[in-house]
Amino acid sequence: MIAERLNTILSELPQSVKLVAVSKFHPLSAIREAYDAGQRVFGESRPQEFAAKVPLLPADIEWHFIGHLQTNKLKLVLPYASLVESVDSVHLLEAISRWAVSEGRTVDVLLELHLGSEKTKSGLSEEEILSICGAPLEGICLRGLMGMATNTDDKAVIRSEFERIAALKRLINTGFPSLESFSELSIGMSDDWPLAVEAGSTAVRIGTAIFGPREY
Ligand SMILES: *Cc1c(COP(=O)(O)O)cnc(C)c1O
Repeated sequence: MIAERLNTILSELPQSVKLVAVSKFHPLSAIREAYDAGQRVFGESRPQEFAAKVPLLPADIEWHFIGHLQTNKLKLVLPYASLVESVDSVHLLEAISRWAVSEGRTVDVLLELHLGSEKTKSGLSEEEILSICGAPLEGICLRGLMGMATNTDDKAVIRSEFERIAALKRLINTGFPSLESFSELSIGMSDDWPLAVEAGSTAVRIGTAIFGPREY
């Protein structure tokens, strides 16, 4: 089942767009099934769950952390994540920078733009993102932007939100040419990824459409 769903998505996804399989709340067996079908990039959103799963799964998995990260949980996540996609506050970015400097590491991050209209959605404002790009912090490699569109059936709303984040990325690429690695645009989930691809997504984060519904 999982392998079939995965292959259906991969057959429709342009090869240049990375598929992040979002395995939060799903058991190790489900992740192994996707791994055995060839999937190597997985996303998790809860620090404890993430830290518990990583050592039990193959070492060549590329883990992305995509959830809200509190600064007292950095140690559970940063040693194992190839990319932190969900930097949603300046406070968090500063804490990651301090951790990176103290560990002698560089942490790859995406800046999460507050995109959807729901109050529950987190993220940085465009102004905050531009100011971060203008004064990069030590130990941080800014790799691009992440965003979540409003959860709605109205395609026009979703499209305009994806256009907004794509435009911000272009603005940053033009305005800050020294940020050479700022290339990623992580937009698109199970219900809206085709619209994200149209808008220029470089990575989609898909959970339900691969693993089925989550049990909370
Ligand atoms: C859960 C989650 C996803 C995947 O959502 P689906 O609708 O299950 O595809 C993508 N991005 C983030 C940040 C998430 O938390």
